[in-house]
Amino acid sequence: KGKRAFVAGVADDNGYGWAIAKALAAAGAEILVGTWVPALNIFETSLRRGKFDESRVLPDGSLMEIAKVYPLDAVFDNPDDVPEDIKANKRYAGSSNWTVQEVAECVKQDFGSIDILVHSLANGPEVKKPLLETSRSGYLAAISASSYSYVSLLKHFLPIMNPGMSFLGGSSISLTYIASERIIPGYGGGMSSAKAALESDTKVLAFEAGRKNKIRVNTISAGPLGSRAAKAIGFIETMIEYSLANAPLQKELSADEVGNTAAFLASPLASAITGAVIYVDNGLNAMGVGV
Ligand code: NAD
Repeated sequence: KGKRAFVAGVADDNGYGWAIAKALAAAGAEILVGTWVPALNIFETSLRRGKFDESRVLPDGSLMEIAKVYPLDAVFDNPDDVPEDIKANKRYAGSSNWTVQEVAECVKQDFGSIDILVHSLANGPEVKKPLLETSRSGYLAAISASSYSYVSLLKHFLPIMNPGMSFLGGSSISLTYIASERIIPGYGGGMSSAKAALESDTKVLAFEAGRKNKIRVNTISAGPLGSRAAKAIGFIETMIEYSLANAPLQKELSADEVGNTAAFLASPLASAITGAVIYVDNGLNAMGVGV
């Protein structure tokens, strides 16, 4: 029996979430995705109209199937958390059951269980502002959307995750960025702080979910990719050029390389890896100076 994966943070075919879904599908997993509510309509329409068909092609020539797309807003844990203006918002009112707890309940009703949980989402409203100019609410919003969203997803999905008996283990993966531990000017608004929290939480969650549920928890520190989210920050081209010029491997990083690492981490080949930050960045993290 193949594994089933829930990938949170897929809204087009350019980002890491899409590439991870593809790599897991190529390895035989059934794919469910969680799509941010404001992006849901356009994503589902594009999917239905075949706009992504070229990027759905798997190595064996078949097309990746997405068994179900769930609307999700990972900054809300349950309906009590949702403020009135969001409830009244047209895009949100058009969908239902998109808080983290409700999505987990819907997945349980529809499919019973999952084996793999992927968190590939982040948001920082003040990402363009230096930390010294970031407001308290901007900082907390970055942490809420980019760090606590992972704690919440894992907490609510753990009860329906198949435990790792010996090697067939359940596995959870998130995406982080080296701005958590080194200075990357331009990655502001508390986003660097949010990634530091995510990496620290990866260790604590690996302990808690490992002891209690036999689930492995890892995070991939990915190099720069021109995704929709990254383009919104405004400096991604510079980061890609910097990596090309300075990394040990002077090639552009493809999202598929991150997808393949996620498939490895979710597989029995990685049965002893948990609580780890795995760099998939052409080795840029190992450099001390630019050359
Ligand atoms: P992306 O735009 O493909 O993915 C981000 C997704 O988050 C989008 O689909 C967006 O709709 C979703 N999202 C935002 N707020 C949300 C919310 N409240 N609830 C649910 N979904 C929400 O961009 P990406 O760059 O592939 O980002 C995926 C992950 O990779 C992020 O954690 C990001 O920080 C990380 N990452 C990206 C890079 C890069 O250079 N692109 C580098 C390292 C790490």
